Amino acid sequence: MKPFLFSGIQPSGEIHIGNYLGAIRNWVKLLDEYDPLFCIVDYHALTQPYDRDLLAQRTFDAALVNIAAGLDPERCRLFVQSHVPAHTELAWVFNTVTPMGDLSRMTQFKEKSQRAESESYINAGLFTYPVLQASDILLYKAQAVPVGEDQIQHIELTREIARKFNARYGETFPEPKQIVPKEGARILGLDGKAKMSKSLNNYVGLLEDSKSVWKKLGPAVTDPARVKRTDPGTPEICNIYSLHKSFSPPEDQQHVAEGCRTAGIGCVDCKKILHKNMMGVLEPIQEKAAALRAQPERVEEVLDRGARDCADLAERTMEEVRDRIGLRARR
Ligand code: SF4
Repeated sequence: MKPFLFSGIQPSGEIHIGNYLGAIRNWVKLLDEYDPLFCIVDYHALTQPYDRDLLAQRTFDAALVNIAAGLDPERCRLFVQSHVPAHTELAWVFNTVTPMGDLSRMTQFKEKSQRAESESYINAGLFTYPVLQASDILLYKAQAVPVGEDQIQHIELTREIARKFNARYGETFPEPKQIVPKEGARILGLDGKAKMSKSLNNYVGLLEDSKSVWKKLGPAVTDPARVKRTDPGTPEICNIYSLHKSFSPPEDQQHVAEGCRTAGIGCVDCKKILHKNMMGVLEPIQEKAAALRAQPERVEEVLDRGARDCADLAERTMEEVRDRIGLRARR
């Protein structure tokens, strides 16, 4: 039996190329090695302001786009977090072994609370978010968790929670390891400054058409040394070149790197090559997404099957946990 791998997907609307390069594309490479569980974490979405009327649709869209982008439902389980209530049940138990001090040290909590528009947005769910995340992972005794660099601290806390539970109640949970991809762990946005994100509006959506993608690449930040077409540049410090490394074949990468250093090509030429190669990756995904959109029952079936399987797996762990912590069994 292969070990479980767990990964959470935010149902946060449009999926962008940063999500694809940093997450989806790396997961696909892990399908042979692990038994993967991919969970659309809708309860996590409640910790920040969100549109109640769009949540269900966005949850469905997240499933659809991830399948279109390469998550083969025959080789993994894809499900919605709230369809398996044991996630929140185990999170409550973990709340009772997690020190407040550990949670208050979480960088993501500090950043999110600093960004919050008002005090009322800093809710207890935002504070205990990593506990629910630990529950997502440990509920399945997953041994591997692919994450971006910004999530490493949360996985360290998950291991700490497993250790604390095991020390108090006996050996129950394995300590999962994080898998941080060598490439794509931190994809910068088109502003070249911050991580690509929808909220910063510095992203290219996975389902954007060719015209819209070009409209975004046009003004994207490049090496500031290339003021004039005749000024040579340094591709290694240019975000457009990093995107070439993710989307372009080696010969195009070499061509643009040399052209940049010698001022043999301009930034517009360089971006046109990137645009062509990027659309070469995005268009097949967009075609698959359109086909799934025309048959939504295919996505619903995948989510139903995922929830059924995962609820069974989760119940096995919860029976063990309830017994370990001394709850009275229902007759
Ligand atoms: S030529 Fe390409 S790699 Fe060089 S600065 Fe312009 S966009 Fe960046």
